[in-house]
Amino acid sequence: NIGQLADEANVKVYVVGGFVRDLLLGVNNLDIDLVVEGDGIAFATRLARFLRARLRVHEKFGTAMILWEDQKIDVATARREFYQHPAALPQVEASNLRQDLYRRDFTINALALQLNLPSFGYLVDFFSGRKDLDQGLIRVLYNLSFVEDPTRIIRAIRFEQRYDFTMEVETLEFAHEAISRKMIGEVSHERMFDELLLILQEKNPVPALRRVTEMNLWDYFLPDLEWSERLERELTTLTELYQEVKDRELVPLETRWMPYFLILTKHMKPEGVKLAIDRYPLKMWIREAIVELASTNEQTGLLMEQSLQYGKLSDLDKLFQGWSIEAFLALRASYALPKTVELLEAWHIIKKCKTIITGKELKEMGIKPGPHYKTLLNQMRWDRLDGIVQSYEEELEHLR
Ligand code: ATP
Repeated sequence: NIGQLADEANVKVYVVGGFVRDLLLGVNNLDIDLVVEGDGIAFATRLARFLRARLRVHEKFGTAMILWEDQKIDVATARREFYQHPAALPQVEASNLRQDLYRRDFTINALALQLNLPSFGYLVDFFSGRKDLDQGLIRVLYNLSFVEDPTRIIRAIRFEQRYDFTMEVETLEFAHEAISRKMIGEVSHERMFDELLLILQEKNPVPALRRVTEMNLWDYFLPDLEWSERLERELTTLTELYQEVKDRELVPLETRWMPYFLILTKHMKPEGVKLAIDRYPLKMWIREAIVELASTNEQTGLLMEQSLQYGKLSDLDKLFQGWSIEAFLALRASYALPKTVELLEAWHIIKKCKTIITGKELKEMGIKPGPHYKTLLNQMRWDRLDGIVQSYEEELEHLR
C-alpha cells in the first residue's frame, strides 16, 4: 500500500537501514525508516493521512515521523551530508538514494528495499551489505568514516556484539587509528552519554561493555571506571534478572538501563562519580540513587529479603521507602541476592496500596492539618497492607 501511495505521488520510496538489516537477519524491528527520492514531507503527510496516524514534521531536515499504533515510521528526503569539520554535526542537502546510503555508518545498515509497486521488495545493495550481513562483518563505507563521526566506533561495537559479528579487518584498523588520534575526545558529553545509553539498552549490554574495556574507551564515558571480573559478574546478574522477569512488566522497559548505570557508578571512586554527575544530564532522582547506593552494602539488600520471609508487608514498605525500583535492582544484582523477583512482585503490591481516606477528607472531618496527617495516613496504609484494615468503614474505625 505504501508502494501504491508512492506511485500515486510520483516519488520513489525505500525502506532502509536497521529495518532491512533486521528483516534479513530474521530479527523483529518495529522502527521503519523510509527514504523518499523527492519531497519526503509531502509523502509523509499523504501516508499519515492514509493511515490516519499522527504526524510530526521537521521542515529544516526534510524529515517527518509518523506514529501509527505501536509503530514508528521515520520518513526522510534522500539527502547528502557533509561535515564542516571532523566530529561536527553534519550539514544536509537533498540528493538521491545512493548518496543517502553512502553517508551511513556501515554496509549492513546501508541496504534498501524498494517499495514502489513494479519492483516492490527489490533489494538495493550498492555496497555489498548483503554479503557482509551473511559473513557477519561490520564494515564502514569509506576510510574517513570514523574521523567524520567517531561515535560510529561505539555503534560498531554495539552491532558487533549484538549480532555476534566482527569488525572487518580494515574497519578495525580505522577504528584503532581514530582512537589513537583521540578523535572520540572531540565528541560532546551529551552525545557520548546517548551512546552509552544505547549500549545499556541492549538486551545484554555486557559483551559491548567488555569490548569498550578491551578497546580502552572508558575514558570517554566514565573516566574513573575500572573494569573487573566482579563488576562484570554484577552486570551479568542484572541481565539474568531481566531475563527472569522478561515480559512480566515488573521493571519499566524505559528505565532498564539505569540499574546498569548505577552498578557502573558503584564501582567508581567518589571523585569519578562526581565527574560523571557533573558531566551528564542526569535527573535529580538518579543522582540521588547513585549517592544512596554508594552507602549501602549486602546487609541492606539482605534485610529486604528477611523481611519478605519473616516480616509483614508494612515492614517491607518501611524498608522500600526512599528507594527507586532501579536502585533497588542495582543493589540486589550487585550481591546476586535470591528472591529478587518475589521482592519485585511485593514491591508492586505495596506501591499500589493506597488508603481510601485522603488528607482532604481528614480536613473535612475537622482534624487540624499538620505533620500528623502523614503519620495517620501512613499507619492506616500499613494496616491495610497487613490486612488489618480492608474497607473504608474500617479505615474510619481506625481513625476513631
Ligand atoms: P537499532 O536496532 O539499534 O535501532 P538502527 O540501525 O535502526 O539500529 P538507528 O540509530 O535508529 O539505528 O539509525 C537508523 C539508521 O541511520 C541506521 O541504520 C544507519 O543507517 C543510520 N545511522 C544512524 N546513526 C548513524 C551515524 N552515526 N552515522 C551514519 N549513519 C547512521
